[in-house]
Amino acid sequence: MTEPMPRFPAGFYWGVSTASYQIEGAVAEDGRGPSIWDTFCRRPGAIADGATGDVATDSYHRWREDVALLAGLGATGYRFSFAWPRVQPDGRGAANRAGLDYYDRLTDALLAAGVTPVPTLYHWDLPQPLEDEGGWMNRATAERFADYAAIVAGRLADRIGLWITLNEPFIVTALGYAFGLHAPGRRLMVDALPTAHHQLLGHGLATAALRAAGARQVMITNHYTPVWPSSESPADQAAARAYDNLHNRLFTDPVLLGRYPDLSAYGLGGDETGGLACVRDGDLAVISAPLDGLGANYYAPTAVAAPAEPPLPFRLEPITGYPVTAFGWPVVPQGLSETLQMLAERYGYGAALPPVYITESGCSNVDAVAADGTVDDQFRIDYVDAHLRALHDAMSAGADVRGYFLWTLADNFEWNQGFSQRFGLVYVDHATQARTPKKSYEWYRGVIAQQRA
Ligand code: BGC
Repeated sequence: MTEPMPRFPAGFYWGVSTASYQIEGAVAEDGRGPSIWDTFCRRPGAIADGATGDVATDSYHRWREDVALLAGLGATGYRFSFAWPRVQPDGRGAANRAGLDYYDRLTDALLAAGVTPVPTLYHWDLPQPLEDEGGWMNRATAERFADYAAIVAGRLADRIGLWITLNEPFIVTALGYAFGLHAPGRRLMVDALPTAHHQLLGHGLATAALRAAGARQVMITNHYTPVWPSSESPADQAAARAYDNLHNRLFTDPVLLGRYPDLSAYGLGGDETGGLACVRDGDLAVISAPLDGLGANYYAPTAVAAPAEPPLPFRLEPITGYPVTAFGWPVVPQGLSETLQMLAERYGYGAALPPVYITESGCSNVDAVAADGTVDDQFRIDYVDAHLRALHDAMSAGADVRGYFLWTLADNFEWNQGFSQRFGLVYVDHATQARTPKKSYEWYRGVIAQQRA
Protein backbone atom coordinates (compact mmCIF):
# COMPACT_ATOMS: atom_id res chain seq x y z
CA MET A 1 0.00 0.00 0.00
CA THR A 2 1.30 3.42 -0.85
CA GLU A 3 1.08 6.21 1.69
CA PRO A 4 -1.98 8.45 1.32
CA MET A 5 -1.29 11.61 -0.66
CA PRO A 6 -0.32 14.37 1.77
CA ARG A 7 -2.74 17.21 2.09
CA PHE A 8 -2.36 20.28 -0.14
CA PRO A 9 -3.72 23.66 0.97
CA ALA A 10 -7.39 24.46 0.55
CA GLY A 11 -8.04 26.37 -2.66
CA PHE A 12 -5.11 24.71 -4.44
CA TYR A 13 -6.01 24.31 -8.13
CA TRP A 14 -6.39 20.69 -9.24
CA GLY A 15 -6.33 20.97 -12.97
CA VAL A 16 -5.39 19.72 -16.37
CA SER A 17 -3.80 21.53 -19.28
CA THR A 18 -4.39 21.50 -23.04
CA ALA A 19 -3.60 23.70 -26.05
CA SER A 20 -5.72 24.82 -28.99
CA TYR A 21 -3.79 23.39 -31.93
CA GLN A 22 -3.31 20.08 -30.15
CA ILE A 23 -7.04 19.48 -29.58
CA GLU A 24 -9.36 21.72 -31.59
CA GLY A 25 -9.11 20.63 -35.21
CA ALA A 26 -11.64 22.52 -37.38
CA VAL A 27 -8.75 24.50 -38.82
CA ALA A 28 -10.77 25.95 -41.67
CA GLU A 29 -14.12 26.37 -39.92
CA ASP A 30 -16.05 29.43 -38.87
CA GLY A 31 -13.52 31.82 -40.27
CA ARG A 32 -10.34 30.51 -38.61
CA GLY A 33 -7.26 31.62 -40.52
CA PRO A 34 -4.14 29.54 -41.17
CA SER A 35 -1.53 29.14 -38.44
CA ILE A 36 2.16 28.34 -38.72
CA TRP A 37 1.40 24.82 -37.53
CA ASP A 38 -1.00 24.22 -40.43
CA THR A 39 1.83 25.19 -42.74
CA PHE A 40 4.57 23.31 -40.89
CA CYS A 41 2.59 20.04 -40.78
CA ARG A 42 2.57 20.03 -44.57
CA ARG A 43 6.35 20.15 -44.79
CA PRO A 44 7.49 16.64 -45.76
CA GLY A 45 9.15 14.88 -42.83
CA ALA A 46 8.32 17.58 -40.29
CA ILE A 47 5.90 15.44 -38.27
CA ALA A 48 7.04 11.96 -37.19
CA ASP A 49 3.93 10.13 -38.36
CA GLY A 50 2.92 12.59 -41.06
CA ALA A 51 -0.12 13.68 -39.03
CA THR A 52 -1.60 17.18 -38.84
CA GLY A 53 -3.79 19.06 -36.38
CA ASP A 54 -6.54 19.42 -39.00
CA VAL A 55 -8.85 17.32 -36.84
CA ALA A 56 -6.71 16.75 -33.73
CA THR A 57 -9.16 15.52 -31.05
CA ASP A 58 -11.99 17.47 -32.65
CA SER A 59 -12.51 19.42 -29.45
CA TYR A 60 -13.90 22.34 -31.45
CA HIS A 61 -16.97 20.13 -31.93
CA ARG A 62 -16.65 17.84 -28.93
CA TRP A 63 -15.98 20.48 -26.30
CA ARG A 64 -19.10 19.51 -24.34
CA GLU A 65 -17.75 15.99 -24.01
CA ASP A 66 -14.43 17.39 -22.83
CA VAL A 67 -16.07 19.67 -20.29
CA ALA A 68 -18.03 16.66 -19.02
CA LEU A 69 -14.75 14.76 -18.62
CA LEU A 70 -13.34 17.67 -16.62
CA ALA A 71 -16.44 17.81 -14.46
CA GLY A 72 -16.29 14.05 -13.94
CA LEU A 73 -12.72 14.41 -12.80
CA GLY A 74 -13.72 17.02 -10.26
CA ALA A 75 -11.04 19.32 -11.72
CA THR A 76 -11.10 22.80 -10.24
CA GLY A 77 -9.06 24.39 -13.01
CA TYR A 78 -8.76 23.95 -16.77
CA ARG A 79 -5.86 25.44 -18.65
CA PHE A 80 -6.65 25.68 -22.36
CA SER A 81 -5.46 28.10 -25.00
CA PHE A 82 -7.10 30.45 -27.47
CA ALA A 83 -6.19 29.97 -31.11
CA TRP A 84 -5.08 33.41 -32.25
CA PRO A 85 -6.04 32.58 -35.90
CA ARG A 86 -9.55 31.78 -34.73
CA VAL A 87 -9.87 35.17 -33.05
CA GLN A 88 -8.02 37.20 -35.67
CA PRO A 89 -7.70 35.14 -38.87
CA ASP A 90 -4.99 37.44 -40.28
CA GLY A 91 -3.35 38.16 -36.94
CA ARG A 92 -4.54 41.75 -37.10
CA GLY A 93 -7.66 43.81 -37.36
CA ALA A 94 -11.24 43.04 -36.45
CA ALA A 95 -12.16 40.03 -34.37
CA ASN A 96 -13.77 36.97 -35.91
CA ARG A 97 -16.97 36.82 -33.99
CA ALA A 98 -17.51 33.06 -34.42
CA GLY A 99 -14.09 32.37 -32.94
CA LEU A 100 -14.77 34.47 -29.87
CA ASP A 101 -18.21 32.89 -29.52
CA TYR A 102 -16.58 29.47 -29.27
CA TYR A 103 -14.39 30.51 -26.33
CA ASP A 104 -17.28 32.35 -24.76
CA ARG A 105 -19.41 29.18 -24.77
CA LEU A 106 -16.51 27.12 -23.47
CA THR A 107 -15.85 29.58 -20.65
CA ASP A 108 -19.48 29.60 -19.56
CA ALA A 109 -19.71 25.81 -19.69
CA LEU A 110 -16.58 25.50 -17.53
CA LEU A 111 -17.89 27.94 -14.98
CA ALA A 112 -21.24 26.15 -14.90
CA ALA A 113 -19.36 22.89 -14.23
CA GLY A 114 -17.43 24.48 -11.37
CA VAL A 115 -14.14 24.49 -13.27
CA THR A 116 -12.10 27.70 -13.26
CA PRO A 117 -10.89 28.61 -16.77
CA VAL A 118 -7.17 29.42 -16.88
CA PRO A 119 -6.52 30.28 -20.52
CA THR A 120 -3.27 30.90 -22.35
CA LEU A 121 -3.26 33.47 -25.14
CA TYR A 122 -0.40 31.98 -27.10
CA HIS A 123 0.39 28.28 -27.19
CA TRP A 124 2.35 28.39 -30.43
CA ASP A 125 -0.28 28.76 -33.17
CA LEU A 126 0.84 32.06 -34.68
CA PRO A 127 -1.31 33.34 -37.57
CA GLN A 128 0.58 32.50 -40.77
CA PRO A 129 0.23 36.04 -42.21
CA LEU A 130 2.29 37.33 -39.26
CA GLU A 131 4.98 34.73 -39.88
CA ASP A 132 5.05 35.86 -43.50
CA GLU A 133 6.18 39.22 -42.13
CA GLY A 134 8.90 37.65 -39.98
CA GLY A 135 6.89 36.17 -37.13
CA TRP A 136 8.57 36.61 -33.76
CA MET A 137 11.70 37.90 -35.52
CA ASN A 138 9.61 40.97 -36.22
CA ARG A 139 9.06 43.45 -33.39
CA ALA A 140 5.62 44.36 -34.74
CA THR A 141 4.37 40.88 -33.82
CA ALA A 142 4.61 41.91 -30.15
CA GLU A 143 2.24 44.81 -30.84
CA ARG A 144 -0.15 42.59 -32.78
CA PHE A 145 -0.15 40.19 -29.83
CA ALA A 146 -1.20 42.96 -27.45
CA ASP A 147 -4.04 43.95 -29.81
CA TYR A 148 -5.21 40.35 -29.85
CA ALA A 149 -4.98 40.13 -26.05
CA ALA A 150 -7.16 43.24 -25.77
CA ILE A 151 -9.79 41.72 -28.05
CA VAL A 152 -10.02 38.48 -26.06
CA ALA A 153 -10.04 40.24 -22.71
CA GLY A 154 -12.65 42.69 -23.99
CA ARG A 155 -14.96 39.71 -24.39
CA LEU A 156 -13.96 37.51 -21.44
CA ALA A 157 -12.28 39.51 -18.69
CA ASP A 158 -15.48 39.54 -16.66
CA ARG A 159 -15.33 35.74 -16.34
CA ILE A 160 -11.65 34.79 -16.40
CA GLY A 161 -9.79 35.02 -13.11
CA LEU A 162 -6.29 34.08 -14.21
CA TRP A 163 -4.69 34.69 -17.60
CA ILE A 164 -1.49 33.31 -19.09
CA THR A 165 0.15 35.33 -21.85
CA LEU A 166 2.69 32.97 -23.44
CA ASN A 167 3.39 29.29 -23.16
CA GLU A 168 7.08 28.35 -23.08
CA PRO A 169 8.66 31.07 -25.19
CA PHE A 170 11.94 29.17 -24.80
CA ILE A 171 10.57 26.29 -26.86
CA VAL A 172 9.35 28.72 -29.53
CA THR A 173 12.76 30.34 -29.82
CA ALA A 174 14.76 27.10 -29.59
CA LEU A 175 12.67 24.56 -31.47
CA GLY A 176 10.72 26.94 -33.71
CA TYR A 177 13.33 29.47 -34.78
CA ALA A 178 16.78 28.13 -33.87
CA PHE A 179 16.60 24.42 -34.71
CA GLY A 180 13.57 24.19 -36.99
CA LEU A 181 11.97 21.22 -35.22
CA HIS A 182 8.71 23.07 -34.55
CA ALA A 183 6.78 25.61 -36.58
CA PRO A 184 7.76 27.85 -38.26
CA GLY A 185 10.70 25.53 -38.86
CA ARG A 186 13.44 28.13 -39.15
CA ARG A 187 17.06 27.22 -38.46
CA LEU A 188 18.57 30.49 -37.37
CA MET A 189 20.64 29.10 -34.49
CA VAL A 190 21.93 31.96 -32.31
CA ASP A 191 20.43 34.49 -34.73
CA ALA A 192 17.00 33.39 -33.40
CA LEU A 193 17.58 35.33 -30.16
CA PRO A 194 15.52 38.38 -31.20
CA THR A 195 12.47 36.07 -31.03
CA ALA A 196 13.11 35.86 -27.28
CA HIS A 197 12.97 39.61 -26.87
CA HIS A 198 9.97 40.06 -29.13
CA GLN A 199 7.99 37.37 -27.32
CA LEU A 200 8.88 38.94 -23.97
CA LEU A 201 7.89 42.35 -25.25
CA GLY A 202 4.65 40.79 -26.48
CA HIS A 203 4.12 39.38 -22.99
CA GLY A 204 4.66 42.81 -21.42
CA LEU A 205 2.45 44.68 -23.87
CA ALA A 206 -0.25 42.03 -23.59
CA THR A 207 -0.10 42.19 -19.79
CA ALA A 208 -0.82 45.91 -19.96
CA ALA A 209 -3.61 45.34 -22.49
CA LEU A 210 -5.17 42.63 -20.33
CA ARG A 211 -5.09 44.84 -17.26
CA ALA A 212 -6.56 47.77 -19.17
CA ALA A 213 -9.43 45.50 -20.22
CA GLY A 214 -10.08 44.51 -16.61
CA ALA A 215 -8.18 41.24 -16.32
CA ARG A 216 -7.80 40.33 -12.66
CA GLN A 217 -4.68 38.14 -12.60
CA VAL A 218 -1.96 37.69 -15.23
CA MET A 219 1.07 35.45 -15.53
CA ILE A 220 3.44 33.86 -18.04
CA THR A 221 4.25 30.15 -18.33
CA ASN A 222 7.83 29.03 -18.80
CA HIS A 223 9.47 25.67 -19.35
CA TYR A 224 12.01 24.90 -16.63
CA THR A 225 14.65 22.23 -16.35
CA PRO A 226 17.27 21.61 -13.67
CA VAL A 227 20.55 21.76 -15.58
CA TRP A 228 22.98 19.05 -14.53
CA PRO A 229 26.59 19.50 -15.63
CA SER A 230 27.95 16.20 -16.94
CA SER A 231 31.05 16.45 -14.77
CA GLU A 232 32.87 18.69 -12.32
CA SER A 233 35.19 19.89 -15.07
CA PRO A 234 35.25 23.67 -15.50
CA ALA A 235 34.35 23.25 -19.17
CA ASP A 236 31.22 21.22 -18.39
CA GLN A 237 30.28 23.62 -15.58
CA ALA A 238 30.61 26.58 -17.95
CA ALA A 239 28.53 24.80 -20.58
CA ALA A 240 25.84 24.09 -17.98
CA ARG A 241 25.78 27.77 -16.96
CA ALA A 242 25.47 28.84 -20.58
CA TYR A 243 22.59 26.45 -21.15
CA ASP A 244 20.88 27.39 -17.90
CA ASN A 245 21.02 31.07 -18.86
CA LEU A 246 19.28 30.27 -22.12
CA HIS A 247 16.69 27.78 -20.92
CA ASN A 248 15.83 28.91 -17.40
CA ARG A 249 16.88 32.54 -17.14
CA LEU A 250 16.38 34.13 -20.55
CA PHE A 251 12.60 34.22 -20.19
CA THR A 252 12.46 34.77 -16.44
CA ASP A 253 15.15 37.29 -15.47
CA PRO A 254 13.74 40.03 -17.74
CA VAL A 255 10.21 39.38 -16.43
CA LEU A 256 11.02 39.19 -12.73
CA LEU A 257 14.25 41.20 -12.49
CA GLY A 258 13.98 43.59 -15.43
CA ARG A 259 17.29 42.56 -17.00
CA TYR A 260 18.66 39.91 -19.31
CA PRO A 261 21.00 37.19 -18.06
CA ASP A 262 24.61 37.01 -19.18
CA LEU A 263 24.59 35.92 -22.82
CA SER A 264 28.32 36.32 -23.36
CA ALA A 265 28.66 32.59 -24.09
CA TYR A 266 26.58 33.31 -27.19
CA GLY A 267 28.87 36.03 -28.38
CA LEU A 268 26.70 38.80 -26.95
CA GLY A 269 27.46 41.52 -24.44
CA GLY A 270 26.79 41.17 -20.74
CA ASP A 271 24.78 44.31 -19.91
CA GLU A 272 21.12 44.37 -18.89
CA THR A 273 20.00 44.11 -22.52
CA GLY A 274 21.89 40.84 -22.83
CA GLY A 275 23.70 42.52 -25.72
CA LEU A 276 20.58 42.10 -27.86
CA ALA A 277 20.56 44.94 -30.39
CA CYS A 278 16.76 44.75 -30.70
CA VAL A 279 16.17 45.90 -27.10
CA ARG A 280 14.95 49.49 -27.05
CA ASP A 281 14.77 51.98 -24.19
CA GLY A 282 11.76 51.26 -22.04
CA ASP A 283 11.28 47.67 -23.23
CA LEU A 284 12.56 46.12 -20.02
CA ALA A 285 10.16 48.20 -17.94
CA VAL A 286 7.27 46.94 -20.07
CA ILE A 287 8.48 43.35 -19.79
CA SER A 288 8.96 43.47 -16.03
CA ALA A 289 5.55 44.83 -15.06
CA PRO A 290 4.42 43.03 -11.88
CA LEU A 291 2.64 39.69 -12.30
CA ASP A 292 0.25 37.75 -10.11
CA GLY A 293 1.87 34.39 -10.67
CA LEU A 294 4.52 32.45 -12.52
CA GLY A 295 3.52 29.38 -14.51
CA ALA A 296 6.11 26.61 -14.47
CA ASN A 297 6.08 23.58 -16.74
CA TYR A 298 8.35 20.76 -15.65
CA TYR A 299 9.08 17.48 -17.40
CA ALA A 300 12.71 16.47 -16.81
CA PRO A 301 16.21 17.69 -16.00
CA THR A 302 18.80 18.28 -18.73
CA ALA A 303 22.38 17.04 -18.65
CA VAL A 304 24.85 19.37 -20.33
CA ALA A 305 28.48 19.01 -21.34
CA ALA A 306 31.03 21.19 -23.09
CA PRO A 307 30.65 21.01 -26.87
CA ALA A 308 33.15 19.20 -29.02
CA GLU A 309 32.94 22.11 -31.42
CA PRO A 310 31.02 25.39 -31.68
CA PRO A 311 28.72 27.08 -32.77
CA LEU A 312 26.80 26.40 -29.54
CA PRO A 313 28.49 26.69 -26.14
CA PHE A 314 26.89 23.47 -24.84
CA ARG A 315 26.03 19.92 -25.78
CA LEU A 316 22.98 18.07 -24.42
CA GLU A 317 23.72 14.62 -23.02
CA PRO A 318 21.46 11.68 -22.27
CA ILE A 319 20.55 11.14 -18.61
CA THR A 320 20.96 7.53 -17.56
CA GLY A 321 19.95 5.57 -14.48
CA TYR A 322 16.28 6.60 -14.36
CA PRO A 323 13.14 5.05 -15.78
CA VAL A 324 12.09 6.77 -19.00
CA THR A 325 8.75 7.75 -20.52
CA ALA A 326 7.63 6.64 -23.98
CA PHE A 327 9.33 9.81 -25.24
CA GLY A 328 12.57 8.62 -23.62
CA TRP A 329 12.51 11.43 -21.07
CA PRO A 330 13.95 10.47 -17.67
CA VAL A 331 11.49 10.28 -14.79
CA VAL A 332 12.96 12.52 -12.08
CA PRO A 333 10.30 13.74 -9.64
CA GLN A 334 12.90 15.47 -7.45
CA GLY A 335 13.65 17.63 -10.48
CA LEU A 336 10.36 19.37 -9.77
CA SER A 337 11.47 20.22 -6.23
CA GLU A 338 14.84 21.26 -7.63
CA THR A 339 13.10 23.56 -10.11
CA LEU A 340 11.07 25.20 -7.36
CA GLN A 341 14.14 25.60 -5.20
CA MET A 342 15.99 27.20 -8.12
CA LEU A 343 13.18 29.72 -8.59
CA ALA A 344 13.05 30.51 -4.88
CA GLU A 345 16.82 31.00 -4.67
CA ARG A 346 17.03 33.18 -7.75
CA TYR A 347 14.01 35.35 -7.33
CA GLY A 348 12.73 34.90 -3.78
CA TYR A 349 9.14 34.66 -2.59
CA GLY A 350 8.09 37.98 -1.19
CA ALA A 351 10.79 39.60 -3.34
CA ALA A 352 10.66 39.13 -7.12
CA LEU A 353 8.93 35.75 -7.22
CA PRO A 354 5.12 35.69 -7.24
CA PRO A 355 3.17 32.53 -6.36
CA VAL A 356 3.98 29.64 -8.70
CA TYR A 357 1.52 27.46 -10.58
CA ILE A 358 2.66 24.15 -12.04
CA THR A 359 0.97 24.66 -15.39
CA GLU A 360 2.20 21.40 -16.94
CA SER A 361 3.51 18.09 -15.63
CA GLY A 362 2.89 14.66 -17.06
CA CYS A 363 4.27 11.87 -19.22
CA SER A 364 3.76 10.02 -22.46
CA ASN A 365 3.20 6.31 -22.19
CA VAL A 366 2.51 3.41 -24.53
CA ASP A 367 -1.20 2.99 -23.78
CA ALA A 368 -3.65 0.57 -25.33
CA VAL A 369 -7.29 -0.34 -24.81
CA ALA A 370 -7.50 -3.89 -23.44
CA ALA A 371 -10.09 -6.44 -24.53
CA ASP A 372 -12.26 -5.49 -21.56
CA GLY A 373 -12.24 -1.85 -22.67
CA THR A 374 -9.93 -0.54 -19.94
CA VAL A 375 -6.62 1.28 -20.30
CA ASP A 376 -4.14 0.34 -17.60
CA ASP A 377 -1.59 3.17 -17.41
CA GLN A 378 -0.10 2.43 -14.00
CA PHE A 379 3.12 4.04 -15.26
CA ARG A 380 1.36 7.42 -15.51
CA ILE A 381 -0.24 7.00 -12.09
CA ASP A 382 3.17 6.33 -10.54
CA TYR A 383 4.64 9.27 -12.44
CA VAL A 384 2.05 11.80 -11.30
CA ASP A 385 1.92 10.40 -7.79
CA ALA A 386 5.68 10.83 -7.39
CA HIS A 387 5.61 14.36 -8.85
CA LEU A 388 2.81 15.42 -6.55
CA ARG A 389 4.74 14.13 -3.55
CA ALA A 390 7.87 15.98 -4.72
CA LEU A 391 5.75 19.08 -5.12
CA HIS A 392 4.34 18.69 -1.64
CA ASP A 393 7.86 18.32 -0.23
CA ALA A 394 8.89 21.55 -1.95
CA MET A 395 5.83 23.32 -0.58
CA SER A 396 6.58 22.06 2.92
CA ALA A 397 10.05 23.55 2.46
CA GLY A 398 8.50 26.92 1.64
CA ALA A 399 7.57 26.96 -2.04
CA ASP A 400 4.41 29.01 -2.58
CA VAL A 401 2.65 26.89 -5.21
CA ARG A 402 -1.02 27.45 -5.90
CA GLY A 403 -1.95 24.73 -8.36
CA TYR A 404 -1.06 21.65 -10.39
CA PHE A 405 -2.26 21.30 -13.98
CA LEU A 406 -1.56 17.86 -15.34
CA TRP A 407 -0.59 17.52 -18.99
CA THR A 408 -3.04 16.49 -20.40
CA LEU A 409 -6.76 15.71 -20.42
CA ALA A 410 -6.87 13.45 -23.48
CA ASP A 411 -4.29 12.04 -25.93
CA ASN A 412 -3.77 14.74 -28.52
CA PHE A 413 -1.61 16.05 -31.36
CA GLU A 414 1.85 16.02 -29.85
CA TRP A 415 3.51 18.57 -32.15
CA ASN A 416 6.30 17.08 -34.27
CA GLN A 417 5.52 13.65 -32.83
CA GLY A 418 2.01 13.74 -34.29
CA PHE A 419 -0.23 11.15 -32.65
CA SER A 420 2.64 8.86 -31.73
CA GLN A 421 2.92 10.05 -28.10
CA ARG A 422 0.03 9.70 -25.66
CA PHE A 423 -0.02 12.06 -22.67
CA GLY A 424 -3.72 11.90 -21.74
CA LEU A 425 -5.73 10.80 -18.74
CA VAL A 426 -8.25 9.83 -21.39
CA TYR A 427 -7.43 7.54 -24.30
CA VAL A 428 -8.46 8.86 -27.70
CA ASP A 429 -9.00 6.59 -30.67
CA HIS A 430 -7.70 8.97 -33.32
CA ALA A 431 -9.76 7.26 -36.05
CA THR A 432 -13.15 7.51 -34.31
CA GLN A 433 -12.45 10.20 -31.65
CA ALA A 434 -13.89 7.82 -29.04
CA ARG A 435 -12.70 8.87 -25.58
CA THR A 436 -11.97 6.21 -22.95
CA PRO A 437 -10.89 7.35 -19.48
CA LYS A 438 -7.72 5.52 -18.48
CA LYS A 439 -6.95 4.09 -15.06
CA SER A 440 -5.04 7.32 -14.35
CA TYR A 441 -8.23 9.34 -14.86
CA GLU A 442 -9.94 7.35 -12.11
CA TRP A 443 -6.87 7.65 -9.93
CA TYR A 444 -6.57 11.44 -10.39
CA ARG A 445 -10.29 11.79 -9.73
CA GLY A 446 -9.72 9.95 -6.43
CA VAL A 447 -6.83 12.24 -5.49
CA ILE A 448 -8.87 15.34 -6.24
CA ALA A 449 -11.90 14.03 -4.33
CA GLN A 450 -9.74 13.24 -1.31
CA GLN A 451 -8.08 16.67 -1.43
CA ARG A 452 -11.36 18.52 -1.84
CA ALA A 453 -13.16 16.58 0.91
C1 BGC B 1 4.07 21.86 -24.24
C2 BGC B 1 2.91 20.97 -24.60
C3 BGC B 1 3.43 19.61 -24.99
C4 BGC B 1 4.15 19.00 -23.81
C5 BGC B 1 4.67 17.59 -24.02
C6 BGC B 1 5.11 21.20 -23.39
O1 BGC B 1 6.37 21.67 -23.72
O2 BGC B 1 3.64 23.06 -23.68
O3 BGC B 1 2.19 21.58 -25.62
O4 BGC B 1 2.45 18.75 -25.47
O5 BGC B 1 5.25 19.82 -23.50
O6 BGC B 1 5.66 17.56 -25.00
